[in-house]
Amino acid sequence: MRLVILGAPGAGKGTQATLLAEFYHCPHVSTGEIFRRAIAEGTELGREADRHISKGRLVPDDITIELVKQRIEEPDCEHGFILDGFPRTRSQAIMLDQMLEEKHLGLDRAILLELEEEEIYHRLANRRVCSNCGATYHLDSLPPKVPGICDVCGSSLIQRADDNVETIKERIVIYHELTAPVLSYYEEQGSLLVINGEGDIDEVHKRIVSNLETRSLRANDSC
Ligand code: ADP
Ligand code: ADP
Ligand code: ZN
Repeated sequence: MRLVILGAPGAGKGTQATLLAEFYHCPHVSTGEIFRRAIAEGTELGREADRHISKGRLVPDDITIELVKQRIEEPDCEHGFILDGFPRTRSQAIMLDQMLEEKHLGLDRAILLELEEEEIYHRLANRRVCSNCGATYHLDSLPPKVPGICDVCGSSLIQRADDNVETIKERIVIYHELTAPVLSYYEEQGSLLVINGEGDIDEVHKRIVSNLETRSLRANDSC
């Protein structure tokens, strides 16, 4: 299965991509997560990415596209991937198609998770992430078993530096300005699947899977 997950910041892309990756036995590729790891490691990529991410802006296309190109060339992506947070611009979407076409491959679906702005703020303000493994929690809807501690690896939970009101506002503006054209790009291709992102995590997951199975572009294709 080759999927991309689109949606505003906080719409549930990472959460649903993790579940879909388990369900379809594909790697979960999150550009945001790759950038955050590079920032934590203090690499050159991390320093450059941080300059943009901290302001709520996108990392430039050339850097992001090259990174995704390298990642989906890796052997674990041979039979599929769940791309979370990429593409975020029309150029990224075009480049992704070109990368896949060169391999005589195509996307199965672009999934858009839709969510009201009020709920977006609620989700982002209460999001907590593991400082070590990146696992995501929510103070109300998905709290860790022990407050402040990651269930998976026992490390401490933190609030993402870009999950503050000012940066969230900027990210939402950028989303409407630069990522909306990506939605129309996939809509024109007939591959956009719009999913209501409201409801609990499991409910949204089941909604996605049942829509994928009943409205699959290429039946019997899994990884
Ligand atoms: P969110 O979960 O809030 O949607 P992500 O974790 O996907 O955010 O991404 C965090 C930040 O990393 C983005 O605000 C952006 O600055 C940068 N980023 C992630 N993916 C991309 C991309 N495809 N193109 C450019 N920048 C990106
Ligand atoms: P994105 O990757 O789109 O920015 P996340 O998957 O990180 O979004 O979700 C944002 C926050 O909302 C996280 O704290 C996550 O635990 C929580 N969350 C995700 N999906 C749901 C849901 N269906 N109901 C309630 N909370 C959710
Ligand atoms: Zn952890």
